[in-house]
Amino acid sequence: MCGIFGYIGKRNDAAEVVLDGLKKLEYRGYDSWGIAVSKSKVQVKTQNLVIEKHVGKIGNGKVNLPKSNVGIGHTRWATHGGVTVANAHPQIDCTGKVAVVHNGIVENFQDLKSELISKGHKFVSQTDTEVIAHLVEEFSQKESFSESVRQTFLKLAGLNAVVILGADSGEIVAAKNGSPLIAGKGVGEFFIASDAAGIIKHTREILFIEDNQMLVLGDDLRLFDLGSGKEMKPHYQTIDWKFEDSQKGEFKHFFLKEIYEQPRILENMAVNSTDQIEKLAEMIKEAYGTYFIACGSASYSALAGTYLFSKLAKKHVNFAIGSEFNYLEDFIKKGSLVIPVSQSGESIDVIQPVARAKQKGAKIASIVNVLGSTLYREGDFKVLLSSGPEKAVVATKSLTAMFATMILSAYCLIGKIKTGQKLILKAAKNVSLILDEKYSTKIKKLAKQLKSKSHIYVLGRGLSYATALEATLKLKEASYIHAEGFAGGELKHGVIALIEKGTPCIVFAPNDETYNEIISNAAEVKARGGFIIGIGPVNNQVFDKWLETDDCGEATAIPQIVISQLLAYYLALGKGITDPDKPRNLAKSVTVK
Ligand code: GLU
Repeated sequence: MCGIFGYIGKRNDAAEVVLDGLKKLEYRGYDSWGIAVSKSKVQVKTQNLVIEKHVGKIGNGKVNLPKSNVGIGHTRWATHGGVTVANAHPQIDCTGKVAVVHNGIVENFQDLKSELISKGHKFVSQTDTEVIAHLVEEFSQKESFSESVRQTFLKLAGLNAVVILGADSGEIVAAKNGSPLIAGKGVGEFFIASDAAGIIKHTREILFIEDNQMLVLGDDLRLFDLGSGKEMKPHYQTIDWKFEDSQKGEFKHFFLKEIYEQPRILENMAVNSTDQIEKLAEMIKEAYGTYFIACGSASYSALAGTYLFSKLAKKHVNFAIGSEFNYLEDFIKKGSLVIPVSQSGESIDVIQPVARAKQKGAKIASIVNVLGSTLYREGDFKVLLSSGPEKAVVATKSLTAMFATMILSAYCLIGKIKTGQKLILKAAKNVSLILDEKYSTKIKKLAKQLKSKSHIYVLGRGLSYATALEATLKLKEASYIHAEGFAGGELKHGVIALIEKGTPCIVFAPNDETYNEIISNAAEVKARGGFIIGIGPVNNQVFDKWLETDDCGEATAIPQIVISQLLAYYLALGKGITDPDKPRNLAKSVTVK
């Protein structure tokens, strides 16, 4: 889940080009970063690599590296080894002539490391990555640099992408199996990066590197099959995608800005997404069986889908968390429809099951927010969420767009897309009202009241159970307060033991078939001292605090979610979290298992 960027070519400020690229990729990981350059293209064999590494986010970081026309960089999300300068990438070999940046996990690194240590290699980090540098060094005694990388990669277990700079040959060699890597061809220069957004500023001639391919970048770009070592013809695509960039503007954080973008996005979806929703609904109708796969927030939208399709369209759809699909997928066959839902389109926990489902003959309809991402490309059909770039790690606008997609598709399946669209428009209007100062002040006050609490419980039934889980995740990610979401009826089966005087409990109470029963559950909590915060269109005496929404039918979930987003944001500020856009330990795009 790191960001990788590499440059080789006519410019002599490779470090700056790489730094600029890494800044675009920082959402992929931000615990530490580093860049290596080599002058070797100009002065072959006269200089080893020069490396600069830092702990922390890149932010407006600067580097002090020599002029060079080749460089690689990395922004890390640690899997093995703490967050230290020694563990930051690039990792190097004993000679200092091989620099490695790596995305993934070398699952057999312990065995490889022991073997290398017995051969006299000295390790300076705790990372799994460092074995790659030493292995290349080992093979380089007999082989060319690129062949050494190829043989090294074949020894690695797990899903990995590596980009390696060799001081002697002055080449960048990349190989991948699992994690994304994309190359760009400019005039007299090449780029390599974890995603296309980092490259298109320089060129639109893009090569999507497939699994088990190796790329050698020098004076030219050469593509090889990793297994056989045979050279292959690279097929570039000229992409005309527009990657909007996004600025914070008047907002202090992207988190808040993206919350405020929601009314416009939802309105746009209600008006302009008919074609893609109709096609998606048609695919669901035709399928032998439909399986949603998603992780994190996206998984709650998929869970919402199961309730919506059942209730509105009387249609059973399945749902699994990406990393669990492996254990549930045996019945997938030709005729099955698999629908991955992912903001980034790069979650490895979703990409892998999709690849397996494809092998079994399933059709793929991807719901993603990032154009050109792996899941976008994997889709036989693609629903692009069009929420625009989401920079805050905490998902907001992409999530409400996913919920809206589920609502619209379920209505579309029964030939009532217009009803769905009206509800989304109503929800968009209500969200605007919630974002108005008068309303948001209420949420700020509530955040003040809750900021010293250690636990918050969130309850909902049916569709609101999915909403409750989403709200819970928001609170946890943003404020680091322990929050737990439950199906309303479930509390009395154990968790009610945790309720004591003053324990805050958020209750999602839309005006639907769940209302009476969720109110009973709220009463059960209140009877044990709980402080009840009701969110929905109908007040009730059981609520100690009521945050009103409009009644937007199933789309009431959207204003409810937005209230929880604002609460999470203001809780983060109240708790003194200085950069709510990048909560600790997280990354926007989760590319390791
Ligand atoms: N496993 C490597 C490490 O912990 C790479 C992690 C990443 O993908 O950022 O350094």
